[in-house]
Amino acid sequence: MPDVVIIGAGVTGLSTAYHLAKRASGRITVIDKGPAGDGSSSRAAGICTGLLWTETGIRVRRRCLALYEELSRELSGYAFHRTGCLNLFSAADWPARAALLPLYDELGAPYEVHAPPRFGQLRFASDGVALYDPLGGYSEPSEYLPALTAAVRAAGVTILEHTRVEEVLTANGAVTGVRTAHSTIPAGAVVCATYGWTRLLLEPLGVTVPVKAFVHQRFEAVPRAPLPPFPAVNANPLGIYARPARDGRVLVGIETLDRPNFEIPHAEFNLSSLTITPGLRSIALDRLAVLLPAAGGAQPANESVGLLTFSLDGEPILGPVAQLPGLFLGLAFHSGGFAYNPGAGELLAQFVLDGRTAIDVSTWSPNRFDTDEAKQYLATPLLQSQTFRRRH
Ligand SMILES: Cc1cc2nc3c(=O)[nH]c(=O)nc-3n(C[C@H](O)[C@H](O)[C@H](O)COP(=O)(O)OP(=O)(O)OC[C@H]3O[C@@H](n4cnc5c(N)ncnc54)[C@H](O)[C@@H]3O)c2cc1C
Repeated sequence: MPDVVIIGAGVTGLSTAYHLAKRASGRITVIDKGPAGDGSSSRAAGICTGLLWTETGIRVRRRCLALYEELSRELSGYAFHRTGCLNLFSAADWPARAALLPLYDELGAPYEVHAPPRFGQLRFASDGVALYDPLGGYSEPSEYLPALTAAVRAAGVTILEHTRVEEVLTANGAVTGVRTAHSTIPAGAVVCATYGWTRLLLEPLGVTVPVKAFVHQRFEAVPRAPLPPFPAVNANPLGIYARPARDGRVLVGIETLDRPNFEIPHAEFNLSSLTITPGLRSIALDRLAVLLPAAGGAQPANESVGLLTFSLDGEPILGPVAQLPGLFLGLAFHSGGFAYNPGAGELLAQFVLDGRTAIDVSTWSPNRFDTDEAKQYLATPLLQSQTFRRRH
């Protein structure tokens, strides 16, 4: 194996290191400008469903759900919360999703359709449809990230925290390593798992990555009385999602459709300076009470704000960069980068070690975009409502 540098110690970078170290010996270095998990990973809700909208996504999520089971056995202090995941649709939006049911059957993704929707104490519009994923659920980032970081370290990977990569180095048209403020680290393969910061790092190399970031937030609240068990819910018609949280709390996340895309201003930028639109928390909690009346009057406990990244065609960007051999990307996971991380890491490790992947992810290739279209996408400001509405 070549020496590998992974830039970004979020779930994508750490998972790549985990899978590389499991399969091969060699020097693996993960570098983050902050502590591990400093990006969106520590801020996520961690919800995962296997019922996506493309064949590639469905296949990769099946693998992710299997990997979450394995990781629950392998990582000390972590277990996937298999609550099931309920994906809600309005009567108008359901036909598009219903058309995917034959694909779920073909690919072995189990589901139940509830029409009209009924599910414990959850309440729904009577003309809506609920698509239940019995394998879905969530990971608690505060359990998963420390467990994965410890396992990666125990496998012999070096994690350099508070160290920003200032430049990806190249010679003769190929990647040769990275430069930080302190040193130059040679590498035959560099995996860029820097999510919202990727453009800032790669544009100086002439690599155009058509990805836009959007501010996104979620809240935890303490209910007035213990809540009945309920699954993770992607309540699309209400513009929220919810799940049980630690210590009997409830978590709710909400879209901000009228907020424009966010340009990270400089390479040192930290997500802690992002702000949440005033009043949004009450709107989220009010909508939660519509979905789960037992959560009405829940007291706000904490909030997290970070970024989601969307590519030009709404699908992830993952794989080798043709114009710079040795450079690999993994980003633009819409609102599902936490859910994807075990599979994304395994796929990136396969690209580095084997040059090909067990699941065909050619539709996610970084090389699929037309350069002019990509530049046009990047030059045009977008509201979140103008990009893809894709949930977990
Ligand atoms: C509020 C919220 C809720 C979410 N809920 C869900 C959910 O329920 N399910 C789901 O699947 N997804 C969810 N997401 C999305 C998910 O958080 C992301 O897709 C995922 O965490 C991306 O992981 P990552 O490792 O690719 O990026 P990040 O976690 O952002 O990591 C990138 C890392 O790169 C580092 N970095 C950047 N530039 C440099 C540099 N030059 N040198 C060194 N390091 C650098 C950063 O410090 C950062 O730690 C949510 C996101 C938010 C904000």
